[in-house]
Amino acid sequence: MIEKRQFYINGEWVDPVTPNDHNVIDPSTEEPCAVISLGSEADVDKAVAAAKAAFPAWMKTSPEERIALCEKFLEIYASRQDDMGAAISMEMGAPIDMSKQQQWGAGYGHTKDFIKAAKEFAFVRPLGDHAPNTRIVYEAFGVCAMITPWNWPMNQVTLKVIAGLIAGCTMVLKPSEESPLNALLFAEMMDEAGVPAGVFNLINGDGAGVGTALTGHKDVDMVSFTGSTRAGIAISQNAAKTLKKVHLELGGKGANVIFADADDKAVKRGVLHMMNNSGQSCNAPSRMLVQRERYDAAVEEAAAVANAVTVGSAHDSGRHIGPVVNETQFNKIQDLIQKGIDEGARLVAGGTGRPEGLNRGFFVKPTVFADANNQMTIAREEIFGPVLTIMPFDTEEEAIEIANDTPYGLTNYVQTTDGDKANRMALSLRSGMVEMNGQSRGAGAPFGGMKMSGRGREGGVWGLEDFMEVKAVSGWDAKTA
Ligand code: NAD
Repeated sequence: MIEKRQFYINGEWVDPVTPNDHNVIDPSTEEPCAVISLGSEADVDKAVAAAKAAFPAWMKTSPEERIALCEKFLEIYASRQDDMGAAISMEMGAPIDMSKQQQWGAGYGHTKDFIKAAKEFAFVRPLGDHAPNTRIVYEAFGVCAMITPWNWPMNQVTLKVIAGLIAGCTMVLKPSEESPLNALLFAEMMDEAGVPAGVFNLINGDGAGVGTALTGHKDVDMVSFTGSTRAGIAISQNAAKTLKKVHLELGGKGANVIFADADDKAVKRGVLHMMNNSGQSCNAPSRMLVQRERYDAAVEEAAAVANAVTVGSAHDSGRHIGPVVNETQFNKIQDLIQKGIDEGARLVAGGTGRPEGLNRGFFVKPTVFADANNQMTIAREEIFGPVLTIMPFDTEEEAIEIANDTPYGLTNYVQTTDGDKANRMALSLRSGMVEMNGQSRGAGAPFGGMKMSGRGREGGVWGLEDFMEVKAVSGWDAKTA
């Protein structure tokens, strides 16, 4: 069993102030695979003090120096792809091949995109020709608490830490207690890359303990959080007492609007996207809205695609989906599937219980409901499992109304071969992102939500700006810069 009880504080691996063992469970086997320690307020005080002490010098370093650190980190990250893929796979259940590619790759891609964006970023820029002595200065926000979930762990950690480093912030990272091993590996890589003492710190812990201590700490200037809407609200309330800046990336309940004129692969693409990562993606297209003319055929096809999705251990090679992360999530998903049945949606694939032949591990059947309406629980709540809900619509207006009738607003999807209609839809859907006809957002595009899906944007230029203050300076001596 892996034993990793230490935290990374002020450039050193240190023991927790008070030992508090926590088993990390392998969701494929339900057995403990590692033991870590959960931190306490005393650990948080040490890490925040280190970040505070390191801030004045780090914010004054040149952007080039900070970019060079991230480039060194990226080299190390690339060389440890297998280790990172294996850690994520074991602790949160993404199948090993997928983990080494998509999970590891998300961290690689974001780091590369931030480096590119940073090289083109003007940290000091003129306001305009009308004001030759006014400069707009982008300056580090300060000491940041970064709290991340387990579902795409390196995606989240790099979106926060790399952007924060380039901006000139210092930070304390608290990864999810469900998936701490990848973040510990990340900290090793940061150390190897030569991050100055105190600039990057890591403490393990749970939300109630370390999470609450960080988000209420008087010396933390900003909280960047990704996770559930429930925790996002609690964090906002806790951070309000010291008026911290709070960045939130929360849940979603994305609509995938499939018009009758959509391409032939639209339904299959939507189902497979939903099932990827066992449905544990905040931007999953979990509500499939299909235009009436194509509805029956789409339901039949979606059921066939879901039935062909295989489920298996994260340790096995292959293109199957793995278990969901833990027993709590497993039970929550089972309850929601039962609710879908009880509320009258038509189950056309999957259902409650484990897939055949899998008696241990948090495995869920790829499940599809048809004939749902948008008021049913399965259409309103984020299930965070491999469960798709299909409903019909007649007109473009009705599709927009259903898609927008949700507290969330993260990603919506549109499938149509009519370009004008696609563009109209993109401008009508209330979400931070709209992805159309299977095209993914370009590298460096901002990621984030409207409404209860959060506040702020991560990635690319927007992700860098999020960790910066904007300062207006008049009387600037134009000769010196
Ligand atoms: P969670 O909110 O329970 O936990 C996320 C993190 O927050 C963990 O590190 C946890 O320890 C911490 N935490 C929990 N309660 C806290 C509190 N009161 N104060 C401070 N920290 C606290 O969520 P989860 O189950 O780990 O992740 C799944 C959720 O994350 C889903 O709702 C999903 O949609 C969302 N998510 C959103 C995005 C996005 O970018 N929008 C990305 C990934 C996941």
